[in-house]
Amino acid sequence: MAYDSNNIFAKILRGEIPCSKVHEDEYALAFHDINPQAPVHVLVIPKGAYGSMDDFSANASEAEIAGFFRAVGAVARALALTAAGYRILANHGANARQEVPHFHVHIFGQADLGPMLAGKPA
Ligand code: AMP
Repeated sequence: MAYDSNNIFAKILRGEIPCSKVHEDEYALAFHDINPQAPVHVLVIPKGAYGSMDDFSANASEAEIAGFFRAVGAVARALALTAAGYRILANHGANARQEVPHFHVHIFGQADLGPMLAGKPA
């Protein structure tokens, strides 16, 4: 699927709309989710134009993949989530109900996050 450069995270990367930034480096930008599902809910997005996990894992360079996942770990450490634990999640496509077509990893923390999945979908 072609990358939609009008998606909201592309606009955040271009500075066209604001975000509550937590971290930025050559490969990744991290910011607070606008609708948090946990006491800490941060999104980490690659700087490159990748629509989902499938696109990123197939087409990103080794440096982009390494840089991105190092940023995910660095953000969790910077938010002091490592000792107590945290969860990362990436939704790809319709069955996962991916809303924004720019690859992103959610980081959840600062609470007991419960079971891995909520149960049967509504
Ligand atoms: P997903 O369903 O994995 O695509 O998740 C998209 C996430 O982006 C949701 O958790 C939204 O709350 C979040 N989101 C949407 N727009 C914004 C925004 N402008 N700033 C921060 N988070 C956003």
